[in-house]
Amino acid sequence: MNLSDITLDREGLAAAIACEDAAFEAALREEAYRVKVATVGPEVYLRGLIEISNICAKNCLYCGIRRDIRCQRYELSEDEVLAAARVAAERRFGSVVIQGGERTDAAFIRKITRLLKAIKSIDTRDDPPLGITLSLGEQSREVYEEWFDAGAHRYLLRIESSNPDLYRKIHPAGHSYDRRLQALHDLKEIGYQAGTGAMIGMPFQTAEDMADDLLFYKKFDAPMVGMGPYNPHPETPLTLSGASFPSAERRFALGLKMIALLRLLMPDINIAAATALEVLDPRGREKGLLSGANVIMPNITPEEQMVKYNLYDRKTQLRDCPSSLDILSSQKIVIGYGRWGDSKHFHRRLSWIKSLSLTS
Ligand code: SAM
Ligand code: SF4
Repeated sequence: MNLSDITLDREGLAAAIACEDAAFEAALREEAYRVKVATVGPEVYLRGLIEISNICAKNCLYCGIRRDIRCQRYELSEDEVLAAARVAAERRFGSVVIQGGERTDAAFIRKITRLLKAIKSIDTRDDPPLGITLSLGEQSREVYEEWFDAGAHRYLLRIESSNPDLYRKIHPAGHSYDRRLQALHDLKEIGYQAGTGAMIGMPFQTAEDMADDLLFYKKFDAPMVGMGPYNPHPETPLTLSGASFPSAERRFALGLKMIALLRLLMPDINIAAATALEVLDPRGREKGLLSGANVIMPNITPEEQMVKYNLYDRKTQLRDCPSSLDILSSQKIVIGYGRWGDSKHFHRRLSWIKSLSLTS
């Protein structure tokens, strides 16, 4: 297959995803990098990742911190979260992501609201206040509104798979595809930059499913996407089922290819190079950036707790240190220090909507 053969419809995307020719894959990644630089620029934006808790009420069949797995649970105190956010401010990351298991109890919800307000008042000297992304699963519309009003402006909620049948296979009863879609639409209507994504290289997943995931992001008009390779956790029902899935090498290549194809399909959105890439290749995120991604999330969770946020095999061995960013700087990657690095796509859509309401 040649680059000129790619069509950005279901059939063309699926053919590109299925093609394992290394020269084709390398040319695709180079083209996506070129498109990224031409549309959103050469910068990578940073979001300091704070893994607030591994306590989760959900039981997703692939996840190493699912409710029924036996592991040591933790929850960061408010002081610990604020200390991590101050590190992000000092290192001029521009933004933080607060991610954790899904909890809907009132104490947790109020804690997040207090934290959002406190993070917004952290002194960032000449930079804007820290931008905040949340990734705390499905919540009621009222809770999303409360958190938006308290200062969160982006929310990451993966669809995990846009194929409802596959979604059902990787989730237990009571986890609803329609509920997830509703949550995504609520986030968008409230005004968040609502990001989504899916796992890549899962059991039962076909090239057509992955093509549909890309087209789902386009149809949802996602301003940001955070997708990444599926990595097995030895004790999850999905792994224990024995269902087959692509090799680590193939999942890595697929992860980069999905980033590249998405950059061609949606040139001006924010695309994250996921941590799951780094687990498969020590320079995984850097290669993600060179394939069209423009966001990374250095982990700033206190180390003692970080090791307990064990979503999948080898995740806990990852460490982020200032020198890992120096490695990026030594490549042709420019780091957007001290900036939110919001999605250009989101702001273009917003000005378009505003212009419509002015003329109507
Ligand atoms: N609980 C929130 C949620 O599910 O949206 C946020 C935390 S959850 C751990 C973040 C993401 O981890 C999920 O969206 C899922 O795609 C990813 N994840 C979980 N298990 C994984 C696995 N085995 N391989 C790759 N990604 C995984
Ligand atoms: Fe909980 Fe998120 Fe893991 Fe599902 S993916 S079990 S919601 S932490």
